[in-house]
Amino acid sequence: MTDLHRLSIRELSAGLSQGQFSSRELTQHYLNRIAKIDTQVNSYVTVTAEQALAAADAADAAIKAGNATALTGIPLAHKDIFCTQGIKTTAGSKMLDNFISPYDATVVAKGKSAGLVTLGKVNMDEFAMGSTSESSYYGATKNPWALDRVPGGSSGGSAACVAADLAPFATGTDTGGSIRQPASFCGLTGLKPSYGRVSRFGMIAYASSLDQGGPMARSAEDCAYLMNVMAGHDERDSTSVNQEVEDYVANLNATAVKGLRIGIPKQYFNVAGLAADVKARVEESLKKLEEMGAVLVEIDLNMTEAYVPTYYLIAPAEASSNLSRYDGVRYGYRCENPADLLDLYKRSRSEGFGAEVQRRILIGTYALSAGYYDAYYVKAQKVRRLIQQDFLKAFEQVDVIAAPTAPTTAYKIGASLDPVEMYLGDIYTIAVNLAGLPAINAPVGFDSEQLPVGLQLIGNYWSESQLLSIVHQYQQATDWHTKRAAIAEENA
Ligand code: GLN
Repeated sequence: MTDLHRLSIRELSAGLSQGQFSSRELTQHYLNRIAKIDTQVNSYVTVTAEQALAAADAADAAIKAGNATALTGIPLAHKDIFCTQGIKTTAGSKMLDNFISPYDATVVAKGKSAGLVTLGKVNMDEFAMGSTSESSYYGATKNPWALDRVPGGSSGGSAACVAADLAPFATGTDTGGSIRQPASFCGLTGLKPSYGRVSRFGMIAYASSLDQGGPMARSAEDCAYLMNVMAGHDERDSTSVNQEVEDYVANLNATAVKGLRIGIPKQYFNVAGLAADVKARVEESLKKLEEMGAVLVEIDLNMTEAYVPTYYLIAPAEASSNLSRYDGVRYGYRCENPADLLDLYKRSRSEGFGAEVQRRILIGTYALSAGYYDAYYVKAQKVRRLIQQDFLKAFEQVDVIAAPTAPTTAYKIGASLDPVEMYLGDIYTIAVNLAGLPAINAPVGFDSEQLPVGLQLIGNYWSESQLLSIVHQYQQATDWHTKRAAIAEENA
């Protein structure tokens, strides 16, 4: 079988349960592809071949014994931000280059109990700070659609490994767009769930009030399978919601597109940096949804200009607090021959963290300092509430809100965007995190350079199922999600 990597999750599940191929064959197939193709993509930080094959054998035994779940024996990749017992977890940082977690993140543990086979850990911007995956200590990941382009970030490794068919699906995290924007840049479907839907236990913290894990895959259907595993209450994460999890797969056709009111925020389509091709593809996809029966309603989101400044105060403030734990003492990188304790702290942190992380720690520490706390942090929190209210007002009028996911397609690697320029590229994604809402990216075509464009749909709280269903039906009526980068067509 040379084309196992072309199968959807539903097809993989059926093939495994009907004995058309074994999990060992499937897993070996992906490991072969990784060995051959990932030298060009650099999506994996760690490949866990031996453990993967052992897990595959256990899955094959479970399938034979009739103890399988729908996902038993299917491989996946985890973003290297989820702690994995006995396997290095780096968060893309030199600081954690030697870190082996003593426990599994809840998301990883749930994957194991569902019988999923972990192929390895995939690359990301250092501590999930960035939009290109270039800030990783392990080097830039390449976009499978054009190897001189970034895959987006911070979950760039997750997106690239799926787009190159080096994993059927992957976990990602989204603090300010890190699932949706790389999904957009790599032509994938990616869901950022409502804050609290997926456990953050064992997920290395960047900005705790914004961080949320979610699935990245080719289609909404594939995402739904992974969401069924990831979602749910966790006693070990006090912010995880104790609310019943829907069956995202069973509900894929449950939302009626006919009559669905889609809000089109005027302000979003007038953003200065919005590329003409992106705007055109997004508008075409909305036209398609309209043909399918949806009703487009122009709405106002008046706080749009406040998104970037608000996010870039709150996220660094929380990061500066979260990252204070990396002190060179308890775990992680420690400098050589410290003169005294202060020298140990200073040098471990300045040698262990990269430039972007240090910039955010500085900004965040400044914003939280006694003299500026009210002027910056408290004010940002008040504006955050206004942003949330703006969305809630919109949801009185419409069912979902449509937007581009990113103002442009993938940047050139090394384009050395100035940090503020990079932050401005987050305009369409970060408000969703500030408000705690769910949102999804769906591929909707290409720009003139054959780079993927993404449509974002933002839903009200706990509407993950609705978002997956809308995108699923759009994908039944179109074929953008089936397009593959040339490198994914290569056989191993
Ligand atoms: N680009 C955003 C940032 O750098 C997104 C990060 C994320 O979602 N993890 O903060």
